[in-house]
Amino acid sequence: MIDYQNILNQINQKVTKDKNKGKIASYIPELATVDLNSFGIHLQLVSGEQFAVGDAHKSFSIQSISKVLSLAYAMSIIGTDLWKRLDVEPSGNPFNHLSLLELEEGIPRNPFINSGAIVIADILVSNLENPKSDFLNYIRDITGDNTIDYNYKVAQSEKETGFNNYAAANLLKSFNNLNNDVEVVLDFYFHQCALQMSCAQLSKAFHLFANKGKCLANKARLTKSQAKRINAIMLTCGFYDEAGEFAFEVGLPGKSGVGGGIVALLPNEFVISVWSPGLNERGNSKLGMKALEQFTTLANQSIF
Ligand code: GLN
Repeated sequence: MIDYQNILNQINQKVTKDKNKGKIASYIPELATVDLNSFGIHLQLVSGEQFAVGDAHKSFSIQSISKVLSLAYAMSIIGTDLWKRLDVEPSGNPFNHLSLLELEEGIPRNPFINSGAIVIADILVSNLENPKSDFLNYIRDITGDNTIDYNYKVAQSEKETGFNNYAAANLLKSFNNLNNDVEVVLDFYFHQCALQMSCAQLSKAFHLFANKGKCLANKARLTKSQAKRINAIMLTCGFYDEAGEFAFEVGLPGKSGVGGGIVALLPNEFVISVWSPGLNERGNSKLGMKALEQFTTLANQSIF
């Protein structure tokens, strides 16, 4: 039996000693208001047990981690039709890179770069009656937690400064790969990214990817095959131009966000969420990456 609590305690002690904690994202002004010293880990085993350390129950802006959840929701609604408008190749480029979109004739390389996530947002806007509240209800349903909400200040802050995302959405529109109004799609996208969740809530939300498509309450929300495919995309595209490094150092499918959160999972075994808001040069949580590297090393767990 692995002593997970002891491992999390060790990581907390060791990793938080690091003086260079990275830099908080400031291009979305509202994100820059968090404490650089925040640090938490939550581990949710598929068998039901949970372990936590530090700020595991403090909520933060999940940002791009939400792209996995919007992809799951869109896939559960329209299935494989989704792949007519998106590819599944790693980009090797930052999350806000635009030229890829041009090269691929308006087909974003994958659903986790911003242009790809904006296409997913467009699909949800087309298929949901009340996109923002339906998406929120979906997140509450798979997590089993009705307290989860958007941070409206963060959404507004990103709307005011999201020039890059406006450019991406307009480019998609020029290639006929956006069916709704740019404003409407981006309003949805900025709210989706502004979901406010804790490590504990994220581990619960991602349970369905570790449990063959069944959410925490054991209800099927994805097919087995859909869950498997989303895990493959997390492994290859979850960390932008650092996906190779994450697979190399950590060895799990996962997804990061500029709010400093990372969620990773081992199918059939566990979901682990980490939060440390300081980012490295590639926009991924600096200590979060370190903590997960330590976790898979100490627990001797990896998909490889
Ligand atoms: N909302 C952010 C953006 O679109 C998400 C980026 C991220 O977390 N990598 O710029």
